[in-house]
Parts: sequence; C-alpha cells; structure tokens
Amino acid sequence: MCGSALSLSKFALRITENAACDTMRSMPGVIGGTACLACCGAGALMAWGVRGRSSTLFAPSIYQGPASRRAIALTFDDGPSESTPLLLDVLAASRVTATFFQCGMNVARLPEIARQVASAHEIGNHSHTHPRFWFCQPAFIREELTRAQATIENIAGASPSLFRAPFGVRWPGMREAQKRLRLMGVMWTVIGRDWKLNAPAITRRVLNTVRNGAIICLHDGRGLECGPDVSATIEAVRRLIPALKDEGYRFETVSQLICPTN
Ligand SMILES: [Zn+2]
Repeated sequence: MCGSALSLSKFALRITENAACDTMRSMPGVIGGTACLACCGAGALMAWGVRGRSSTLFAPSIYQGPASRRAIALTFDDGPSESTPLLLDVLAASRVTATFFQCGMNVARLPEIARQVASAHEIGNHSHTHPRFWFCQPAFIREELTRAQATIENIAGASPSLFRAPFGVRWPGMREAQKRLRLMGVMWTVIGRDWKLNAPAITRRVLNTVRNGAIICLHDGRGLECGPDVSATIEAVRRLIPALKDEGYRFETVSQLICPTN
C-alpha cells in the first residue's frame, strides 16, 4: 500500500530540493553550487517524470495524435457516474464518439451505465480505486490496473488497450503493469479543469488551446464519488461540439486518433 506518503506531492519534492540546496549553498564555492544545481535538476526531472504530459520515464505514454489531420479526441475520466447517461445523450445527438477512462469500482457500482457507454464509445482503464500512485509499491500499481481491467472486461464487455493514470501520476512499476496488460498510457493535450470551472470557462479554455491531434481531457465523474455534479462538463460539451465542428475538427476515439486504421 501507499501509506501516509500519499499526501506528498511534487511540492514536497520541491521543498526537499530547497532544503538540500540551502545545505549545499553553505558548502564552499563551486562544489556547493554544482551539487545544488545537480540536486535541483534531479528534482525537476523527477517532477516531470511523474506528472509531465510528455514524460515516458516510468511508462509508455502519449499525449497527442498526429498534427497532420484535423481530428481530435474527447476523453472523459472517473466514470461511469449517475450523470454519464446525460452526457451520452449529448454525444449521441451529435453523433460524436469519445473515449471514457473508467474506474473499476465505478463500473462495478453502475454496471448498466458502464455497458451503455461501452456499446457506443471506447473504454480505457483508469485504475480500480483512483489512487494517487506516488510512493506506491509496484505490486499495488499492478493490482489496481489488473482489477480495473478485469472488472471492465467482465461487466462492460470491453477490453481496454489504453490507460490513463489517476491525477496523471506515473510511478516506478507502472511500465511493467501496463506491459503485462498491453496498455498504452494516455495523457492529454488540453485539460478542461472541469472539476472547478463553469461551462463558459471550460469551453473557452478548450477552444483557446485545441489543435490538430488534440486529446481533450474532461470528467464524467469525480473519483469514486456517488452522484457527482458534472453539469458544467455536460453543458461545456454541448457548446464545444458545434464550435469544434465549425472549426473543421472531426471527432475520433483515442485509438482512431493515434492509429487511423482502427
Ligand atoms: Zn481521474
């Protein structure tokens, strides 16, 4: 298990770096300065390796599709939730196919909705219980991905080939876990911050940063929360689809985006 270290974050890493740097600054001249730079560099590399969207340090991962086609992928994390059917209605009305990164626990809680999503969209693995994986043991990471994969396969009837790490946190052990389950990691080009922004702000944020091949990250749930309010996301999607179509974008699943023969 991950223990009390769960509460640590990249900010804690920075604090550690700063403390180490303070010590090293007291060392004489060039040696102290060089050691300080090396320490800060290692800390920055670690922070990027864990959370950087382009990082493949701990596991294979992509964050965008090819820039050569005017295509994008809408992705939704943390579902299924009680609100997911409303989102499915919006997508169906516009004939848009998306990729849903589901948590195994939520699939087990709402099996009928999970099957409804799987019948029309691509399903990805988003872990079983949505933990932050930093400082977790490889066995815990492997168990989380494996349980989610089995639950999605058994209940929703879909076999995910994509994995999105909860909170975008990658950690040692993830490469082996993904390899075992043949999962490609997927980060994002654009994140809507839809857990805190209202619909107009989410819409603006996405439209201001979208580009060819963009993978757009939104949420139809909130971790394992029951009955989460995702109305801002649903309203934003209702506004985004026609606006993005007007700009000439075609909507694809992540698999179609990164491998157009799918
Ligand atoms: Zn999530």
